[in-house]
Amino acid sequence: KVLRVAMMGLGSYANRVADAMKDCKRAKITGVISGTPTKIKDWQSRFNIPAKNCYNYGNFDAILNNPDIDAVYITTPNALHHSQCLRVAAAGKHVICEKPMAINAKEGREMIEACKKAGVQLLIGYRMHFEANTKEVVRMRRDGEFGKIMFFQGLSGFIIGDPTQWRLNYELAGGGAMMDIGIYSINGARYMIGEDPIWVTAQEVKTDPVKFKEGVDETITFQMGFPSGAIASCLSTYSMNYLDKFYLNGIKGFAEMQPSTGYGPIKSATHKGRLDLPHVTHQTTQMDEMAAIILDGKIPMIPVDGEEGWKDMVIIDAIFEAVKTGKKVEIKYV
Ligand code: NAD
Repeated sequence: KVLRVAMMGLGSYANRVADAMKDCKRAKITGVISGTPTKIKDWQSRFNIPAKNCYNYGNFDAILNNPDIDAVYITTPNALHHSQCLRVAAAGKHVICEKPMAINAKEGREMIEACKKAGVQLLIGYRMHFEANTKEVVRMRRDGEFGKIMFFQGLSGFIIGDPTQWRLNYELAGGGAMMDIGIYSINGARYMIGEDPIWVTAQEVKTDPVKFKEGVDETITFQMGFPSGAIASCLSTYSMNYLDKFYLNGIKGFAEMQPSTGYGPIKSATHKGRLDLPHVTHQTTQMDEMAAIILDGKIPMIPVDGEEGWKDMVIIDAIFEAVKTGKKVEIKYV
């Protein structure tokens, strides 16, 4: 059986996912939801989508009655994910939602509850959770090959361009670099260490308050503490290039990945030597694996469910609070 997916929001990432899905064995595009008729036309011809499987933001609740669609993949600006997820769930379709799942933990929780109530699955687009190098490092850590984990460093950033894009608009982005790219260091710290942080401290630096308006973070350094005593030190920024690096340190060894989350080949090494497992387009693997999760109940090595997305939102809420108060913030997952 194949997972039949409708893409919602036909922007740059949707195009990347859809192109990658041409190589999927278990997932295919059967529908679209878009506010732009010309894009719908283009996608119809590229993916052979019949008119009856095309929707806009006003009428997509009618997807309820469409037997050709099993799941909707939400790839719209962050602040729209919550309401769109609730509507997809109410229409009885599984939800695959891009990161960040929402713009705060409260919204994330409501999305989890809505999907539970509707009896549909909610998966978050954490493509790295299916990537071979990442999984091998996680396996080594689980098998104790690094010994007791002491430290993680995550560096996530790039220089953002066009100041008018939605990523720099609080109403649509719900934040700035942290929501978009810093989340990779948060999520990476969690799967690399294998624990969820119990406190954070954080400091914000803003060099350009015109480009990065109120609520849109430019650069944040943050530190996290984990139950075992391990600590993490991370950087999230929209003002520096070449920041895509993870480093994990244990008593008996280490792992480093650079690039660690980019689309291209992940370069990795451990204290035993280079890893550099072969590259497969992340979104191809992700969608085949997500089909297996939804259709067969497969349990992924690193979770991608709503709870996983929600934990990152809880941590982002705590980081923003730590920035605002200048204090160490305890994290409770309730
Ligand atoms: P984008 O701007 O290229 O695409 C967003 C799409 O949403 C556009 O087609 C736009 O027309 C549409 N849209 C619908 N309603 C809109 C509204 N009210 N205002 C503005 N646009 C609206 O952005 P993108 O880079 O494709 O990012 C989309 C989502 O995917 C974001 O949540 C982002 O974090 C996520 N993303 C994830 C990855 C990843 O590697 N997992 C990579 C890139 C983006």
